[in-house]
Amino acid sequence: MGLTSSLRFRRRNNKTFLRIFMILVLSCIPGKTNLCSNHSVSNPTDVPPSNPSDIRSSLVSLDLEGYISFDDVHNAAKDFGNRYQLPPLAILHPRSVSDISSMMKHIVHLGSTSNLTVAARGHGHSLQGQALAHQGVVIKMESLRNPDIRIHKGKQPYVDVSGGESWINILRETLKYGLSPKSWTDYLHLTVGGTLSNAGISGQAFKYGPQINNVYQLEIVTGKGEVVTCSEKRNSELFYSVLGGLGQFGIITRARISLEPALHMVKWIRVLYSDFSVFSRDQEHLISKEKTFDYVEGFVIINRTDLLNNWRSSFRPNDSTEASKFKSDGKTLYCLEVVKYFNTEEANSMHQETGKLLSELNYIPSTLFSSEVPYIEFLDRVHIAERKLRAKGLWEVPHPWLNLLIPKSSISKFATEVFNNILTSNNNGPILIYPVNQSKWNKQTSLITPNEDIFYLVAFLPSAVPKSSGKNDLEYLLKQNQRVMNFCKTARLHVKQYLPHYETQQEWKSHFGKRWETFSQRKHAYDPLTILAPGQKIFQKTTTTQFQLSKSKSKAVLKGTTRRASVLLKPRTV
Ligand code: FAD
Repeated sequence: MGLTSSLRFRRRNNKTFLRIFMILVLSCIPGKTNLCSNHSVSNPTDVPPSNPSDIRSSLVSLDLEGYISFDDVHNAAKDFGNRYQLPPLAILHPRSVSDISSMMKHIVHLGSTSNLTVAARGHGHSLQGQALAHQGVVIKMESLRNPDIRIHKGKQPYVDVSGGESWINILRETLKYGLSPKSWTDYLHLTVGGTLSNAGISGQAFKYGPQINNVYQLEIVTGKGEVVTCSEKRNSELFYSVLGGLGQFGIITRARISLEPALHMVKWIRVLYSDFSVFSRDQEHLISKEKTFDYVEGFVIINRTDLLNNWRSSFRPNDSTEASKFKSDGKTLYCLEVVKYFNTEEANSMHQETGKLLSELNYIPSTLFSSEVPYIEFLDRVHIAERKLRAKGLWEVPHPWLNLLIPKSSISKFATEVFNNILTSNNNGPILIYPVNQSKWNKQTSLITPNEDIFYLVAFLPSAVPKSSGKNDLEYLLKQNQRVMNFCKTARLHVKQYLPHYETQQEWKSHFGKRWETFSQRKHAYDPLTILAPGQKIFQKTTTTQFQLSKSKSKAVLKGTTRRASVLLKPRTV
C-alpha cells in the first residue's frame, strides 16, 4: 500500500509538473489556441509525438482514475508458457472503463507515428506471448474492479462481472446465492476476459457449449476507444466478433454470464480402457444422451506403472480385491472421467442414475474408482495440483502445451499414430482427450472449430523441467509437438488448434479458412490501426516514423517511412 501511494504521489507530482511545463511551452507558441486535447498533449504543430520520450510523457499526462507505471514492466513481460520475454513500455492499472477508453483514444490519436500497441492482460496464463505487448501498453485487467460481482436471481439468473474478474471469485460469490455458471475451464484462476477471448472449454462443454456460449451481454472498449454494450440483439456483430476473438476487436470490460442452480456435491468417477475405439465409443455415447453425466472428460496414460495405487489417495475402488489384480504394465490406457452433481438428500437417486449410465459402458470392470467431494472442490481441482507444483518449484517452468480440436472422423487415426508411435510416455504432464457436441455450440462466434458435429479436444500439457535432458527437456517437447502437427498435416486430419499460435499471417489465413475475410474486415472496423493484442501475431501495426535525413545531404527533409512494429517480436527461449 505504502509503495503504491508513494508511486501515486510521485505520479501526481510528475503530472502536475509536466502540465505546468507544457502550458509554459505551449503558451509561448503564437496562434496556438487548443492547448490540450482531451486525451493527449498536443505539440506545436498538432502532430502527435513520435519520439519515445515524448510518447512516454504523453502517457503520463493522461488524466486517469487509475495509474500508469513504467518501473514494474517485468511483471508483464512473460506468461505461463514461460518461453517469451517481451517487456512493455508501460502498464496501465485502470480503475474505470473510462481509463481504458482514454488510453485507447490517446493511442489512436498518436496514430501510425507510434509503435504503441495494447494488450489486455488477465492473469497472463497464455502460452506463447498472446497477452504481451512489446514496448506497448499492457492493461492489467485485474485492477478494474468495477462493477463488483453482482448477482441477479430470477427465472434466468445471471451475474455481472468485470472483464478482469477471475472465475474462482465468481464461483465463490454465486454459490452464496445457490447459483453457479454452467460452463467451465479445468482451472478457475483464469479471467473472464481471457477465457472469453478464446472459448473456455471443459467437461461441461458437450452440454452447454464453451463459456463463450453462456454470455448474455458484454461491455467492450473497441480499438477506437469507443465504449459499446453488445449482446445477441444489440450490436450483435461486435458481440460475436469479440467472443473467441483472440482480443483483436476490443477489450472486454464487463460481462453478463448466465447461471444455473448449483448442487452441493459431485460423484466423481474414473474407469479405464485399453482399447481406444471402445473408450471413444463410450465417450460419444455419453455426450449424445439427454440424461447423462454433468461432466465428461478423459485422459491418456502412456507407459505409467502403479497408476491405480496413485489414485487410491483420493479415489476408492469399487472392488478393492479386483482392483489390486489390475496391472497397467506400461500399456497405453485411456481413462474416462465423469461427474454427476447432486445434493446429499438426493444421493440415492444419484446412485441409481450413475449406476444405470455405468452399466451402458464397456470399461475394464476392475478399474471402477469413485469419490464424492463438494462441488467447489471438484471445480477448483487443478489449484490443488498448482499448489503442489509451486511448492516443488515446478509451476513457473516452460509449458510447451499443444491444444488441438480433432474431427471425430480423424480421431482414431490420430490416436493410433500419436499415442502409440510418436509419444512414448507422458510422465511430464497430462494428455486430455474428450469429445464435444458442436450442435450445442453457437457458430456465430469468432472461434474456429473443425467442420463436424462431434470433435475432440486433445490437450498435451507437459512441463519442461529446467536443466533436464531427455524427455522433459523443452527442445525435446517442442520437437514432439512438431511431429504431432506434421502428422496431422500429412495425414490430412483437418485439425484446428485451440489457443492457436502461428508465426505468419499465411498460417492464420489457413487457420481461419473461409472465415478469414470476415475476421479481417471486422478487425478493420473495430481496430483499424491494429493496436490490440499484438502478441497473437495475426495483424501487425504499420507505423510511419519520421526522420530527418543527414544534414550532410545539404537539405534537411522530413520523410515518412513504414516499418512493421512487430518485427521486434522475437521469441526468447528461457
Ligand atoms: P491472458 O493470458 O492474460 O490473455 C489471453 C488473451 O486474451 C490475450 O490475447 C489477451 O490480450 C486477451 N485478453 C485478456 N483479457 C482480455 C479482456 N478483458 N478483453 C479482451 N482481451 C483480453 N482453457 C480452456 O479453455 N479450458 C481449460 O480447461 C483450460 N485450462 C487451463 C489450465 C491452466 C493451468 C492454464 C494455465 C490455462 C488453461 N486454459 C484453459 C487456457 C486459458 O483459457 C488461457 O490461458 C486464457 O488465455 C485465459 O488466461 P488469462 O485469463 O490469464 O488470459
